[in-house]
Amino acid sequence: MSKLYFRYGAMNCGKSTNLLQVAHNYEERGMKVLIIKPKTDTKGADKVVSRLGVTRNVDFWIDKNINIYNLIDDYMKNNGDVNCVLADEVQFFTSKQIDELFEVAVKLNIPTICYGLRTDFQMKGFEGSARLLMLAHSLEELKTICNCGKKALLNGRKINGKFVFEGEQIAIDKEDNIEYEALCPKCYFDYKEIYESDKI
Ligand SMILES: [Zn+2]
Repeated sequence: MSKLYFRYGAMNCGKSTNLLQVAHNYEERGMKVLIIKPKTDTKGADKVVSRLGVTRNVDFWIDKNINIYNLIDDYMKNNGDVNCVLADEVQFFTSKQIDELFEVAVKLNIPTICYGLRTDFQMKGFEGSARLLMLAHSLEELKTICNCGKKALLNGRKINGKFVFEGEQIAIDKEDNIEYEALCPKCYFDYKEIYESDKI
């Protein structure tokens, strides 16, 4: 029986690079991988973009109402076996879609590796990640560091260069320049204090 893996980490911890490396390793041995990504994520659209400069189109760019189990089952009926499913930005999948990925691993017997964030910029969970933390056979942290040198655990949102701690989970305002930065908890709370005192 194959497993469902959740490889999580803060922003810029190398999730996409790891995903593309795994795809390369399988393909080097003549094996078939499918790369999927939820449609909610607009960054890079239907591509997986690694910060090292490697970019690749996804096989399926998936809407919230799509049943991923049926999608992959149908794909295999028409195209033959798949050796590995790689899912990028999984925090944006629905809880139901994570259940479907679990079934892909168990019932279709395909190793399924999910990459995503654990928490958002307000330390709240994402639907997809929360479900993965409950279901995945294997949880693996991809580590990165904060600017101060400590291990980054959280994600800060910057608008026009300043950290903000209020707003929608998925930023839709395209007029502002939104960036994310991995932060250690100490720096996160320091920036939050500055944000709160600037509001008064
Ligand atoms: Zn720090």
